[in-house]
Amino acid sequence: MRIFNFSAGPCTLPLPVLEEVQAEFVDYRETGMSMVEMSHRTPPYEAVHDGAIALARELFAVPEDFDVMFIQGGATMQFAMLAMNLLTPGSKGAYIDTGIWASKAIQDGAHYGEVYTAWSGKELAYTRVPDSAELTLQDDTRYVHMTSNETIGGVQYHEWPEVAVPLVADMSSDYMSRPIPWEKFDLVYGGVQKNLAPAGSTLVFIRRSILEHTRRDLGIYLRYDIHATKNSMYNTPPVFPIYVMEKVLRWMQAEGGLSAMEKKADQRAGLIYETIDNSDGFYTNPIEPASRSNMNVVFRIADNDREPQFIAEAAEKGMSGLKGHRSVGGCRASVYNAMPLAGAEALTEFMVDFKQRVG
Ligand SMILES: *Cc1c(COP(=O)(O)O)cnc(C)c1O
Repeated sequence: MRIFNFSAGPCTLPLPVLEEVQAEFVDYRETGMSMVEMSHRTPPYEAVHDGAIALARELFAVPEDFDVMFIQGGATMQFAMLAMNLLTPGSKGAYIDTGIWASKAIQDGAHYGEVYTAWSGKELAYTRVPDSAELTLQDDTRYVHMTSNETIGGVQYHEWPEVAVPLVADMSSDYMSRPIPWEKFDLVYGGVQKNLAPAGSTLVFIRRSILEHTRRDLGIYLRYDIHATKNSMYNTPPVFPIYVMEKVLRWMQAEGGLSAMEKKADQRAGLIYETIDNSDGFYTNPIEPASRSNMNVVFRIADNDREPQFIAEAAEKGMSGLKGHRSVGGCRASVYNAMPLAGAEALTEFMVDFKQRVG
């Protein structure tokens, strides 16, 4: 039996995709073997690989002058890799510190180049993103790094920063949930395990013209120019997540593409925020309304001691993964693209019922 899985990542995937994988897994389209057993340099895999890239281009509306790459190591490796590749001597990386993931990007970037914090939400307990006017940028800034959605804190940008230098973004947890203004970006990256696929790959988009200036004196796997010019096939690519991602993207296309995903994200999260806001303080969300995340809804129960009971009872009713990140506690409902509206409805019904019983 399937349950509603509100886990922050890895997380729920569309059931039709899982069923398709299951049905063809052992003998992929009469090849006599599964996709994960065959050479990545054979036509069936190449079709999946190129198909996934083509679909990503189409659904994310990626301009022609960007390359699409699959790289292993998760978003975490991109924290280091982007600084290694982009921060040539004399240039600086500016970072907007909106929470735990942004902080990690800064820490790792600092190992490889000159970085500084252009704005920090730390003293505000990471309850909002900044206005562009609040950013303090220095000369020779190569990029401004932002985390479009803070998965742990439940904070999301709803207006993109207006800055005079290119943006670089970690979009791990809000990929395919809204349009990306590509003209502002040199680089966009994200682990696929939150909105697109099983864990094991990052999906990275890079403006092709900047590849002329990325560093070459790096271990070969760490070079963006290699991944881009070799079509993510310099070495063995992460076959399984790419294979499943191709199917997830096809599912999204059939569901109506980006605009449909965006609409559903608004509905799901809207329902939960409405329940929180109408609970007379029984449930609270600490984030400023304009910065609330449509992907990760964090909330507390005023009587914090009730939270374990809430989480346990929800699990009994077929809703799992509602425990907040261990660093912040509380509750968190991650409502990514594959979460049906029925999941948010079931959760909000339970929230109302729980409040009535114990409030
Ligand atoms: C999950 C997450 C990461 C870390 O991703 P890994 O693929 O596990 O390295 C980084 N940034 C954000 C915003 C995330 O949600």
